[in-house]
Amino acid sequence: MQCPKCQSSHKKKNGFRRGKQSYKCKDCGYQFVENPISRKYPPEVKQICLKMYLNGLGFRAISKRSASRRALIRLLNRFGRLLSAGRVFGM
Ligand SMILES: [Zn+2]
Repeated sequence: MQCPKCQSSHKKKNGFRRGKQSYKCKDCGYQFVENPISRKYPPEVKQICLKMYLNGLGFRAISKRSASRRALIRLLNRFGRLLSAGRVFGM
């Protein structure tokens, strides 16, 4: 577990926040929490979601296969932005 701001591993425990261990970076003073809520999806999940999205399935159909609909919508929005920007995915 490193400081997300400066990547330093010099941290000290800083109590609990919402039931999670909180740390404070000794180098830059940044406070962060262990296991942040915004987990990253593994690449396979992203690819499946993107394929379904490109195949014309709606959010509702996709969210049935997903644990977190809000995270998925955020993900698809990001994909949509990348698509409209004309980027190519490494699929
Ligand atoms: Zn830091």
